[in-house]
Amino acid sequence: MAERLKDKGVHTVMAENNIRNGSQEADAYWRAVEEGRLIIQQCANCRATQFYPRVFCTKCGGRDIDWIEAGGNAVLHAFSIVHQPPTPEFADGVPYVTAIVEIEEGPRIPTRIVGVDPDPEALKIGAPLKLTFTEVAGRKLPVFRPARPR
Ligand SMILES: [Zn+2]
Repeated sequence: MAERLKDKGVHTVMAENNIRNGSQEADAYWRAVEEGRLIIQQCANCRATQFYPRVFCTKCGGRDIDWIEAGGNAVLHAFSIVHQPPTPEFADGVPYVTAIVEIEEGPRIPTRIVGVDPDPEALKIGAPLKLTFTEVAGRKLPVFRPARPR
């Protein structure tokens, strides 16, 4: 079952299309999301962090993996403006900003940027972001918005 998690791009599908693939790791992840928390894995052996959830550490191969809660700070690593909805349930949302963000704990995760115009001029690589949550088709999704100066 966990083998399916290794499929290329499936983390994007997990994040964007909300597929629950039935693995224990994915279930734990989505349960936390429903509670308004973003959790990532940390290896108990080498302390490496990783996303998306897997049954082993991608750095040392260890299988003793803990969950830690992300603090919610990230920077924009890459983005794209989506004009064509990937599935009908996203049709109301276009255009939107899909992105890879690097969270302060280390991993890069696929997500969306909200609270900003879906315009390349409004987005800067390296810009500070804050975790928030949105709902698509009745499901909560972790997304990021520009961090505002305090
Ligand atoms: Zn490890």
